[in-house]
Amino acid sequence: MIPEHYAVIGSPIRHSLSPFIHACFAEQYGWLPDYGRIECAPGQFEQTVCAFMQNGGRGLNVTLPFKHEAFSLATTVQPAARQAGAANVLCLAADTVCCDNTDGAGLVQDLTVNLGIDLKDQRIMLIGAGGAASGIIHPLCKAGVREIVLVNRTLERAEALAQSADHLQAVPIQAASREACDGIINASSAGLQGKPPGLQLPPGLRWGYELAYGRGAQPFMAQLRTAGIRANDGLGMLAEQAALSFNIWHDHYPETATVTARLRARIG
Ligand code: NAP
Repeated sequence: MIPEHYAVIGSPIRHSLSPFIHACFAEQYGWLPDYGRIECAPGQFEQTVCAFMQNGGRGLNVTLPFKHEAFSLATTVQPAARQAGAANVLCLAADTVCCDNTDGAGLVQDLTVNLGIDLKDQRIMLIGAGGAASGIIHPLCKAGVREIVLVNRTLERAEALAQSADHLQAVPIQAASREACDGIINASSAGLQGKPPGLQLPPGLRWGYELAYGRGAQPFMAQLRTAGIRANDGLGMLAEQAALSFNIWHDHYPETATVTARLRARIG
């Protein structure tokens, strides 16, 4: 029998923390970790996934830039992936490729359970209109958020995304400071370029969340802290989306608090 394998696929992938996270989860059950990294060249996604399956691959986490291709490749699509139009988890079997998206549920779990933020009836500003932003809108709405104000460097993309659900409105990034909100989430990738996302903060904020972690989280976290606003990075979300993936594959829901603490110690 071919042993079952799991991995994260993307490009670049060498810095991914997913193998470490999944090794921590496996350790909780006394299992040997079997989770690797796959660097995939552009245009090679489908054939790389097929080769992995033929060698016993049963599950993949999918990261940039392949989340849309993973969604298109799937023969069975779970509702969260359909709503996002993108997938970060694949379940592979002989005749089916099932996709799901755990990013949004992972964020909501981190915000509500780990950070104790009650999202019900909140008005939230969401920065960004890329893959991560589209994956978190529906889970936020499901968690009871009253309204999401979308701002993005390119307004047209925010306007297009605003069509995807009720309780969404797009405003120009220059108008952000006129929209009172309870919380703000940065789902732009500005931090990965060493910059804050380029807006004046709205009034009324009680909390802020940056999806990036490590060095990429620092510019926006600094902007929030300077304004006296509680700032959180995306490390908890990373662990939670991974735990949800692990549960999809293995039907076991691992503990995440110690794993997030170990991640924090690891990235410094
Ligand atoms: P993406 O699809 O490439 O989208 C990038 C977004 O950032 C776009 O809206 C883009 O605006 C905006 N942007 C890029 N550079 C900017 C700048 N200098 N100033 C202002 N806005 C800028 O990326 P993604 O997949 O959505 O990822 C976004 C972030 O989420 C990344 O930092 C990623 O690491 C993080 N993330 C974290 C987790 C987690 O588990 N913690 C999971 C998923 C993603 P335009 O439309 O104008 O180009």
